[in-house]
Amino acid sequence: MTLPISIIRTLQHATNRLVATQERANADSAIARLEAETLLSFVMRCTRSHLHTWPERLLDDAQAHWYSALIERRAAGEPLAYLTGQREFWSMALEVTRDTLIPRPETELLVELALQHIPTDSAWRLLDLGTGTGAIALALARERPSCHVIATDRSTAALAVARRNAATHGITNIEFRAGDWFAPLQDETLHIIISNPPYVSALDPRLTQTEIRFEPLSALASGTDGLDDIRAIAAAARQHLTEHAEGGWLLLEHGYDQGCAVAQMLRELGYAYVRNDQDMAGLDRVVSGRWT
Ligand code: GLN
Repeated sequence: MTLPISIIRTLQHATNRLVATQERANADSAIARLEAETLLSFVMRCTRSHLHTWPERLLDDAQAHWYSALIERRAAGEPLAYLTGQREFWSMALEVTRDTLIPRPETELLVELALQHIPTDSAWRLLDLGTGTGAIALALARERPSCHVIATDRSTAALAVARRNAATHGITNIEFRAGDWFAPLQDETLHIIISNPPYVSALDPRLTQTEIRFEPLSALASGTDGLDDIRAIAAAARQHLTEHAEGGWLLLEHGYDQGCAVAQMLRELGYAYVRNDQDMAGLDRVVSGRWT
């Protein structure tokens, strides 16, 4: 039995705990405070503004225990999205689990660029390879309701999460298929293929030393130069982008320092209209090319 503790004191303790941890040695206290509030509103099932309005409200025992366990996990580096089981993407709250990569804001660039190619009201067939939470497929399916989206992933656990996300958001124009890259596609063709594949070098120390160590390695690492999966996708996509007078686009997310290499790869494979686009931080993030 612990003494009841108020919201305001709980938040002070939690913020101090997060700022002080080794993992977050340089943690900005404003960010630590925001995270402490996000987790407390999750535990107390209320909004953050409720926390500010009722700072003297007491936590019950169960809430206090659950909260301190979550703060310890956060202090040990576990990403916030895994603690709350949720992350926002394209204004949709998506379920995330340890089986899925956590959707990143920069991946919205991939969606924006794809939408520029896909005419409104078209009945294009779209493919999202390695869908994870389903983030890209869901955003495209929602923005282009007359299109048919196929989303693949070799992880059936990830596909189960993606299916739940589609159901939660009432999105029905997506077909989920299990398998490695194009394996579930046979000889089907598509108007546009999009992917945020693994692209981190398997030797990158971030894989073991930063928060991304909590995410599935199979969704992050791809050979020594990080380009194994991008190479495989770019080569194989050509067989699936044929026979279309319009479309024929391949869009791939990649690492900030891979823009030149991936653009050159697409040109060598025979793609036309190859271009690089930058994310909001001004870093090369997406390569596009058209198979004609
Ligand atoms: N953007 C992620 C990171 O660098 C990597 C995601 C990926 O490999 N697709 O943390």
